[in-house]
This record gives sequence, structure tokens and C-alpha cells, in this order.
Amino acid sequence: MIGELKFAGPELDEATIDGVAEVLRSGQLSSGPWVRRLEADLSAFCGGRPVRVLSSATAAVEVALQLAGIGPGDEVITSASSFFTVLNMIVKVGAKPIFVECDLVTRNIDLAQVEAAITSATRAIMPTHYPGALVDMDALYGLARRHGLRVIEDAALVIGSRWKGSNIGAFGDLVTFSFHPNKNITSIEGGALVVTDESEARRAEALRFHGITYLPDRTRDVAFPGGKFNLPDVNARIGCAQLERLPEFLTKRRRLVDRYFQRLTSDPPCVLPPRPQSRSDDDYSWNMFCILLPLERMNMNRRQFRDALEARGIATGMSYEALHLCTLGRQHGGREGRFPNAERIARETVTLPLHTGMSEADVDRVCSAVIEVIAGSRR
Ligand SMILES: *Cc1c(COP(=O)(O)O)cnc(C)c1O
Repeated sequence: MIGELKFAGPELDEATIDGVAEVLRSGQLSSGPWVRRLEADLSAFCGGRPVRVLSSATAAVEVALQLAGIGPGDEVITSASSFFTVLNMIVKVGAKPIFVECDLVTRNIDLAQVEAAITSATRAIMPTHYPGALVDMDALYGLARRHGLRVIEDAALVIGSRWKGSNIGAFGDLVTFSFHPNKNITSIEGGALVVTDESEARRAEALRFHGITYLPDRTRDVAFPGGKFNLPDVNARIGCAQLERLPEFLTKRRRLVDRYFQRLTSDPPCVLPPRPQSRSDDDYSWNMFCILLPLERMNMNRRQFRDALEARGIATGMSYEALHLCTLGRQHGGREGRFPNAERIARETVTLPLHTGMSEADVDRVCSAVIEVIAGSRR
């Protein structure tokens, strides 16, 4: 019997587990020296820009919106194809989400549609980067500058992706990362926010911890309602160890993706992620390998396809639903037919297994199963 292949998951080494035990024995359980160390390491990774860690990327997005002063009456433009975080946090701070279409293959936000959606109420653009291609950063920031808009990059999936030689996070405006166990590096739960200067970093610290600031006599004051989004040291300890291993994780992921591109040729074909020109040209984080199923030419639905893979011991995921069509999205004007690419992705996408615990033989096994199930269902 072959083992069950999960579709995502972290790689934690024994040294990290021992490190966590040390933190637990130290008695320093909430945020302390390991949080400061992780922030310093992330800042170095982001070209020296200030970074603050939080309890999740979702918290980081909420704090980013607050830092940008976004609230009732403001519009934020975002992709109809992304994770619920972006929709939820825009609505939570009282702003209005304005959805636009994404590209079918890269799945990144369509910047021409962003420009067309700008109104006098627009305050920010919130693009999600996909792991096999980045949003065009020159075009994005050109647009933001021309219209005086803030940018909040949802970089949850792309720690380790590079744009023209620079790490994502090392330039630009506000950038958020996730350290959920399914991302490229983990702190179990956790996230980070890259900000533009030290005064913004200090406000982010207050926003993540009750809104507390210190008066000159060291008594505490609260001037705005902060949250409780600090990261415990145990998590930061794991995050530090993971960040050190990121280059190794990236190399491994890129090798597995290379194998997927070599082996995944079904008939009828799936829509695959954008293929790098060459391995040396692969600047991407490859957090996920998502395909679109040729459902129109299959006599099974996605659920049945996923069940057939599951029966072969292969777990799959689904990313992402169309945000404008969930109940909350519909409450903000979302309707069927508005964004054909985002809607097609929501219907046909499947996330194949991709994580550093896999071998190239595992990729071959997944590809054979996909090819076989699709061939068996051809109509
Ligand atoms: C995972 C993810 C998030 C949320 O990250 P958390 O750390 O779980 O809050 C946000 N956006 C995208 C695109 C994600 O994949």
C-alpha cells in the first residue's frame, strides 16, 4: 500500500523542535527576544525595510489597511480571485471592496481593469501575488503613483519570489506575508507586515497590541482601538529556523515544479501555471501548483476527480473561490458573469500536491494519476 500524499505541509527539523523546547523552558512565552530576532531577519531579507510580525497574515492585512487610514467611504480595488482574507479585511475596516478580473493563467490581477475601476473614492490597490508569476511591479507602482494610491501587496504565497533580482518585500509599499503551515515557511500560525518607515512600524506595533502607546512618564495610553495580534516567541523561534532554510526549500520546490511541467501532459489538456523559460529563469516561490481541469471534455465533475485522486492516495486542494460570488461578495455587488476568468478558476481549479517532503517520484505518481483519471473520463 502506497502512503497518502498530502497536498501541502511544512518541514520541521529536530533542531527547531529542540529550539522550541528551550523557549518553553525559558519562561518567555509571549512576544520577546525571538520576535525581535525574527523581525530583524525578515528586515534583512527585505533589503533593510522595517518588518513587524503578527499572529497571521490576515492580522497583517487588517493592520495594513488601518495604517493606510482606510475606512468608511473608501474603496479598495482587489482581485475577484483571491483568498477570503482580502475581502474580509476590507469590509471589516468599513471600506468597500471593488473587484476586478484576473488573468486566467497567471491568476494575477488585471492591471488595465484596476485602472478602469479607479474613482475619487479609491484609496488603495490590494493585489494578491500568485506563486508562479508576480503582478507586474513596474506597472502596479506606476499606476499607484499616477493616482496617488497606497498599495497593500498580499504576498502570503510568495515569500522567496523575486522581481528583477529583488525579493518581494524588499521594495514597494505595504507588503504582507503568511507563515501558515501550508506556506513556504511557517511559524505554525503567523504573518509579517513590511512597512515604509519607522514611524509606521511604531503605529503597527500599537495596532497589533491593544493600541497601547507610552507617555513620557511611562504610563500607558490608548488613542485608537488596537487589536491583539502579537506573535508568541515559540512561534517566532520556529519562524527564524524556517527563514534560514528558505533557499533550500525554494530549490526543492522549483525542482518538483520542473518535474510537473515535464510530466503533466493530459489529453484533453489541463491549463497549467505559467511555465518558466528555464530553471535558472525561475524566480518564483511555487507555493502551489494549481491546474484547471478540462471539465467540458470530461464526464465527471471536480468533486469526482478529486475523489478519484483521493482513492489513489493523493490529496488535493482548491484555491480560490471567486470572492465576488460568496455571500459577503454578493452583498457588495458581486454577480455571476462579471469576471469570467475568476469564475472559471473557481469552477475548475485543483491544487496538486507540492511541498518539500515530496520526491520527484511522488510528482510522477501524481501526474500518472491525473493523466489516467482524465483519460478515463474523456468524452
Ligand atoms: C494563506 C493566505 C492568506 C492568509 O494567511 P493567514 O496567515 O492564514 O492569515 C491571505 N492571502 C492569501 C493569498 C493566502 O494564501
